[in-house]
Amino acid sequence: LAQLYGPLNQLGFMYRSINQSLVDTEKLLKLLNEPTEVNDRDNATALVVDAGEIEFDNVSFSYDNRTTALNGVSFKVPKGSSVALVGESGAGKSTILRLLYRFYDLPQGGGRILIDGQDIRDVTQKSLRAAIGVVPQDACLFNSSLSHNIGYGKFGSSPEEIEEAAKSAQMHERIVTFPDGYETKVGERGVRLSGGEKQRVAIARTLLKNPPILLLDEATSALDSSTEKDIQKALQNLVLGRSSLTIAHRLSTIASADLILVLKDGQIVEQGTHTELLALDGVFASMWADQISTSGQTPAGGNDPLPE
Ligand code: ATP
Repeated sequence: LAQLYGPLNQLGFMYRSINQSLVDTEKLLKLLNEPTEVNDRDNATALVVDAGEIEFDNVSFSYDNRTTALNGVSFKVPKGSSVALVGESGAGKSTILRLLYRFYDLPQGGGRILIDGQDIRDVTQKSLRAAIGVVPQDACLFNSSLSHNIGYGKFGSSPEEIEEAAKSAQMHERIVTFPDGYETKVGERGVRLSGGEKQRVAIARTLLKNPPILLLDEATSALDSSTEKDIQKALQNLVLGRSSLTIAHRLSTIASADLILVLKDGQIVEQGTHTELLALDGVFASMWADQISTSGQTPAGGNDPLPE
């Protein structure tokens, strides 16, 4: 998923970036080679976002018309609520996010995806993507300054706004340790940031973009506990008041999600809150038990999430 996010996340910023000669030629060629599977309809209108409610209505999808990636998936993300997707590799988590971002259109008979009641096939891709913020696991940064990388989120953002966003994303304290502060160059020709730092830059950028809908892909690899805490805090600030869909790999981080959807072979096999799913003693409960035994920790009070 990160491979797809990266280029598409950048598309919106591409024209400005080309003007500023900030995109490596190689990267640009890669972007232009991305297949465009989706075209706007002739009568496509701009998406009108009111509450930012998302609905998957009986969605089925296959990448190759042979194997099923999603099969009859229905759920709602009510205004401002957080929904987490869990399930083993290949279960269909990324496909849900890709379809909502409209990398692919659903075929006739494949159900509908609605945002505030509008079928996303009927709206312009530009307006759809303007309403959605994406924070991938492996955030892609340009070879330019931190302030430019964060400021992408909103055209013409002021240094104060950029700093405010970096503070909310728990990145400001780190940035001021660099000799050039916000003007520090990152990427191949500058300071190398850790995965957690890059993700916080992406969070700051998304805070500036201020989208009503968020798609998040949690890092799979374990981060050290202080980085993990910083990221969790940054994400809390980001998801507040927005409708969010998060792919979760570590179940402890989504213990407070409003709804957890458990996917298996392209279908939702269980859904509920963390506590409800543990009480169900099914797929989720066994995934939870596996993670507890691998991490060597015992959940306090039985059903409580792992301690921070
Ligand atoms: P992971 O946790 O490994 O990212 P996932 O739950 O996100 O897995 P998906 O990437 O949504 O799973 O994949 C769902 C199904 O669709 C899998 O069977 C996968 O092999 C298939 N699939 C995913 N992407 C493609 C693609 N581009 N072309 C063909 N099949 C694909």
